[in-house]
Amino acid sequence: MAKTPDGGRLSRRAVLGSLSVAGLAPVLTGAAQLPSESGNPRTGPRRKPLTSDAMNRLVLLGTSGGPPWWQDTDRAGVASAVVVGDRYYLVDAGHGVGRQIKDARLGTWDKDMQGPLDGLQSVFLTHLHSDHIADLYGILGTGLQNGLSRRDRLVEIWGPGNRGALPVSYKGEKMTEVVAPENPTPGTRETIDMMVRTFATDFNDRVIDSGYPTPDKIFAGRDIPLPARYAKDPNGNPHPRMSPFSFYEDDRVKVSATLVQHAPVFPAYAFKFETDTGTVVFSGDTGPSENLVELAAGADILVHEVIAEQWIAQRHPEPRDAAAEAEYQHLKGAHTTIEEVGAIAEQAGVRTLVLNHMVPGNWPVKEFERAGDNFSGKLIVGEDLDAIAIGAAVRGR
Ligand SMILES: [Zn+2]
Repeated sequence: MAKTPDGGRLSRRAVLGSLSVAGLAPVLTGAAQLPSESGNPRTGPRRKPLTSDAMNRLVLLGTSGGPPWWQDTDRAGVASAVVVGDRYYLVDAGHGVGRQIKDARLGTWDKDMQGPLDGLQSVFLTHLHSDHIADLYGILGTGLQNGLSRRDRLVEIWGPGNRGALPVSYKGEKMTEVVAPENPTPGTRETIDMMVRTFATDFNDRVIDSGYPTPDKIFAGRDIPLPARYAKDPNGNPHPRMSPFSFYEDDRVKVSATLVQHAPVFPAYAFKFETDTGTVVFSGDTGPSENLVELAAGADILVHEVIAEQWIAQRHPEPRDAAAEAEYQHLKGAHTTIEEVGAIAEQAGVRTLVLNHMVPGNWPVKEFERAGDNFSGKLIVGEDLDAIAIGAAVRGR
């Protein structure tokens, strides 16, 4: 078993810091919480991003999970790029994604107004939780001046369709006070359409003042066509067992999806990208899922979410009231623990397991490395801007 390189042992401060979690009294105070040369006080030592000049490569743009802006870490929100030659495909768009695309030097990154979004081919959203779409508008709205309008093809934004029904509350009740009761669960196509309307003032100013095209000439939301028989019960838990289905193909990639276990969210997807050098699979947010294992079977790279069970237990100590119990069960059932994720990769027979969507985002790296205990392949505890060759490394630059 090979593990990701690491800068050294945890400092005493790192160990102390690891005991401090959101919702509990901090162990460290004042200047002691600031990063130091011996490593970040909570995460421990962090390595530099992995580099690759492969033509086809995975780039981790952001590796933290969840809406919180985790203390003592610079991990950006969850987002990844599948780079195929001179184009790239974005998977999720968490906080900071635009800045990360630039820092990863994707597209044309060294000329004002020309890139880096000139290389963006398509966007794929695993689900519509805020931490996966937080900066989607950031790249679509300001994208006009960063390469998005310098193209001759639409950027398609693929994601879940309209769920059609709200889930019941953790008490089993139908909620009466909800947002937009006339359409409370818009899918990706509607979300993009409404986003353009929300920001119409700016889009229209750009059209009139600067001659930019209207957004419908530049990008469009698309609902992933989930076969109807799996969409019958949007509040079903667990998610229905299904085999992957293909929904996107161009001259560089074929993309397949399957439902994963992220109740009460539905649909929530995992994706498989097949390129001419190899295959990379993204779990999205999910508890252990047979659908995911089938999708990932034999993949070169599995990018999988992970959560620290110890953190869940610390955050929701016993005894738990109904609300705390509901969130405790959600976090455990809708995510995959450090102890579980290696076995899933082993079962799927993937070559490389890459951890992303780490919750909490400031948990010690050493703790995440325990995922390798149940996995005989190569484990990479992801860092922002890691670049990893997909399959056979054909040099691109
Ligand atoms: Zn989620």
